[in-house]
Amino acid sequence: MTIRQIIFEATQKLEKAGIPSARLDAEVLLAFLLRCERLAFIKNPDDKISEKQLAAFDRLIERRTGGEPVAYMTGRKAFWSFALEVNPAVLIPRPDTEVIVEEALAVLRQESWRRPRILDIGTGSGAIALALACEVPGASITATDISEAALQTAQKNAAALNVEPIVFLKGDLFEPVEGRFDLIVSNPPYIGADEYQSLPPGVKNFEPEEALRAGQTGLEFYEKLIYQAHGYLTENGWLLLEIGARQKQEVRAIYEAHQDFYERIDVREDYAGLPRVIKGRRR
Ligand code: SAM
Ligand code: GLN
Repeated sequence: MTIRQIIFEATQKLEKAGIPSARLDAEVLLAFLLRCERLAFIKNPDDKISEKQLAAFDRLIERRTGGEPVAYMTGRKAFWSFALEVNPAVLIPRPDTEVIVEEALAVLRQESWRRPRILDIGTGSGAIALALACEVPGASITATDISEAALQTAQKNAAALNVEPIVFLKGDLFEPVEGRFDLIVSNPPYIGADEYQSLPPGVKNFEPEEALRAGQTGLEFYEKLIYQAHGYLTENGWLLLEIGARQKQEVRAIYEAHQDFYERIDVREDYAGLPRVIKGRRR
């Protein structure tokens, strides 16, 4: 069979299984297996692959029809300007999360701190902290997570990227943290109990529950973060939080309940036009 036929058949199998990005996934998985770029298939669609490679590819496609995310199979996910190692101990970084990075950079430009102190709570793969480490030379960055396995993954990603050194700390929210920060960012778990049950199987069955689940309502982490962050922000320091598409009113209300602590509360949308980041500045 030629590459063209192999991709065609795999795409059909994935489509039948209800996988939305069937063709792309088939190409990405074949490129991963053959250790080449997807572009090679466009250039040489009539090339053939060995029986052994074909059998291995069939197994990957089989796993994908069961909903397993492509990123966990390849162990890589593109984020910002780099690729991160990912594994089932970490949430696969989402393109939407790049919006919190953009918003953090906008705040940093506006405040023009010379060597900003930045804290990323619940760093997972390290996505947000590493993007900021790439973009803000001289920043002093701390990243935390409650999961030891996630922190190890983030540390590996940091070592591979050769950016500003990041201090990694393990613990519950602010518990391992000392001192004050000009900017605190977090993409906390924000899925409530009912919503968790209705997540797509590819997310629910494969991504870590502790990266997604936030109590009954999905707001648990916002209540704690907004209340506690005040004690860890410098004067005029900013708290930036990623939110779920339907959480704008509720999370704004939590900031507003602490109006003695925060001013200039504002919401930024993602590129799908959905509310995605909410920020406030310490009074
Ligand atoms: N920042 C990464 C990103 O944007 O791709 C991961 C975000 S994921 C939604 C939330 C992360 O918070 C997970 O890595 C999880 O292990 C971590 N986490 C959950 N509960 C925590 C807690 N109480 N304290 C610190 N981190 C926590
Ligand atoms: N964006 C993720 C999802 O929709 C949720 C991430 C989070 O809980 N912070 O699955």
